[in-house]
Amino acid sequence: MQQHTGQHLLSAVFLAEYGYHTESFHLGADYSSIDISTARLPEAEQIRVEDVANDLIFRNLKIDIYSATPPTELQRLPVRKLPPDLAGDLRIVEIDGYDYSPCSGTHLSGTGQIGLLKLLRAENYKGMTRVHFLCGGGVPGKIIVSSTKPAPNWARYCLCPSLNCSPAVSGSSATSEIWNDR
Ligand SMILES: [Zn+2]
Repeated sequence: MQQHTGQHLLSAVFLAEYGYHTESFHLGADYSSIDISTARLPEAEQIRVEDVANDLIFRNLKIDIYSATPPTELQRLPVRKLPPDLAGDLRIVEIDGYDYSPCSGTHLSGTGQIGLLKLLRAENYKGMTRVHFLCGGGVPGKIIVSSTKPAPNWARYCLCPSLNCSPAVSGSSATSEIWNDR
């Protein structure tokens, strides 16, 4: 649930901050990813999105789930992405006025339960950008970051062995050291 609710939040932040839509997503045990509607994702935008997402986690926004009937009730809601074949009531997952997303899955009751959201890397994928991320209690156990200033390019630091790009870690700057405890 942490990965799934974290995906809602991350997609909402990308849309709110930069207008990037989430075209598809993957939720897995080792890592999760979203594909967003931009071919380029500058380092500054990655850092900004991660900061905003974690601020919203820290504020522990309430997450409500309810049904909305089209067209009248739905018209009042800024739903992020309506399904193309809209028929009958829609189940809405609302993050406290920040995001309204149709979804039938299981979610947390507050953003604070996401714990932490960490962007791992970003890569170009079929004209979009695939952003790998982790949420929840697994994040601190997998990485410890010691840094005197923001890392120069978070997207280069793949911390998940299954992603097979550990050389980037060894190439990190002296101001940022990253350990994987596995
Ligand atoms: Zn959902």
